[in-house]
Amino acid sequence: MKFDNRFVHELPGDPESGRHVRPVHEACYSRVDPLPVRAPALLAWSREVGELLGLDETDARSREFAEVFAGNRLLPGMEPYAACYGGHQFGNWAGQLGDGRAITLGEVINRRGERWELQLKGAGPTPYSRHADGRAVLRSSLREFLCSEAMHHLGVPTTRALSLVGSGEEVVRDMLYDGHPRPEPGAVVCRVAPSFIRFGSFEIFASRGEESVLERLIDFTIARDFSGLADDTDPASRRVRWFEEVCRRTALMVAHWMRVGFVHGVMNTDNMSILGLTIDYGPYGWIDDFDPDWTPNTTDAFHRRYRFGEQPRIAHWNLWQLANAIYPVVRDVGALERGLALYAEAYEAEHRRLMREKLGLTRWLDGEEGGAGGADEALLGDLHRLLREGEMDMTLFFRRLAGFDPAAVQPGLFDDVFYDAARREASAGELERWLQRYAARVDGEGVPQALRSERMNQVNPLYVPRNYLAQQAIDAAEGGDLSVLEQWLEVLRRPYVEQPGGERFAGKRPDWARNKPGCSMLSCSS
Ligand code: AMP
Ligand code: MG
Ligand code: MG
Repeated sequence: MKFDNRFVHELPGDPESGRHVRPVHEACYSRVDPLPVRAPALLAWSREVGELLGLDETDARSREFAEVFAGNRLLPGMEPYAACYGGHQFGNWAGQLGDGRAITLGEVINRRGERWELQLKGAGPTPYSRHADGRAVLRSSLREFLCSEAMHHLGVPTTRALSLVGSGEEVVRDMLYDGHPRPEPGAVVCRVAPSFIRFGSFEIFASRGEESVLERLIDFTIARDFSGLADDTDPASRRVRWFEEVCRRTALMVAHWMRVGFVHGVMNTDNMSILGLTIDYGPYGWIDDFDPDWTPNTTDAFHRRYRFGEQPRIAHWNLWQLANAIYPVVRDVGALERGLALYAEAYEAEHRRLMREKLGLTRWLDGEEGGAGGADEALLGDLHRLLREGEMDMTLFFRRLAGFDPAAVQPGLFDDVFYDAARREASAGELERWLQRYAARVDGEGVPQALRSERMNQVNPLYVPRNYLAQQAIDAAEGGDLSVLEQWLEVLRRPYVEQPGGERFAGKRPDWARNKPGCSMLSCSS
């Protein structure tokens, strides 16, 4: 692997060394090596990410691979560091946070000339670890590894994951559910992205009035990660266009979350990627029964700030914090406001496009145009109300809708999307009426049923990494059985295609999993 570590070479670093926890001023990072673990063992890897980096199966199965991606051995060219950033957590400025358990190894330039940053998560303490140990448990590492790869295959912008390596050490986390700490197996994930710079990376310098570092970081980010803007030779207009681009990418990312039913769970500004990638998979979750008020995060169970239906507004709020942070360098309120407005427009447009595709429609009809069925906005709004009141499974509903043939009688087609028989009974009439409107609407478009069905199945996944399935993979892996993880990973490579043997990964959440630890909600400390 060929390394070219621009982040550490072109930006100011922390003059102090060592792992001791400290405030780091006027610097973007602190050099710190991963702390070796006792017994590295490869648990899983992604061949697609391996391919990006020029690593094959033989490489991945080597002793050296497990050692490198556990943090026990450095390759020539690696220059490990932890990044300094701050963030707004749950709406409040939290000051310096930084990579408390993540350590970047270096930036790889691959055969195609692409730049990929390799970052270990759970690699030991850094100057930013505050009161924590810098480690990660297998449970949360497996969840991050699996979900980030699944998101990629679903077509959602995301950071990637190369490997999941067991550390052979025990880590203690407070398990909120059973009330007492229990030691758990530790692990290290190697995550991979063009950049891990976050909104909070800029906020920290603005909050301290360190404007020259802020300016350097902005211009560095544009030059390294937004090369499309390089042709704009005016720095002021380049920075404005950069902010607009961040707004646009963030809008697309969140629209995709809403399409697939992903709930991030901790949309703090330190968990918002400047590239518009889904980053920091913690207590995330997937919508089972359609509930816009649901959050998987127990830490947020009261205010529900980061609930499913609120994500588009929160992303806007986060961009607003970013706008405030970069203002001292951009100094153009109007331009920043236009960027924020662009977020709203881009989100609306993308959301509408994706919802239209989910419904299998070729056009989106406004107001009067909608004819007998009413406008499509109303058709969608009524469906959302119906899904929610009926407690229907979002993922299964859209797959069944793809198979719905207005010309044929299909008794019981939607029966298994309901979680509760009484709700099914109560919703039957309304569902029937909605399906009639929908039938009239698709009829008006004249697209053959088979074609509509095929198109719908390309945007409505059958397999999503539901929490209860993740918990099953975790339980097996903790007991030394990796087969569930391996089979599931294979199925998730093609989430839109029904696969033999895939049934166990397509089912809606079983009753026993409703309130079981790990199967529905999780804590931030996971
Ligand atoms: P998160 O809520 O996971 O985004 O984390 C917020 C902050 O806490 C980040 O600065 C993390 O690096 C830090 N952090 C979380 N878990 C640990 C840990 N086990 N050890 C050190 N720092 C951590
Ligand atoms: Mg984080
Ligand atoms: Mg986290």
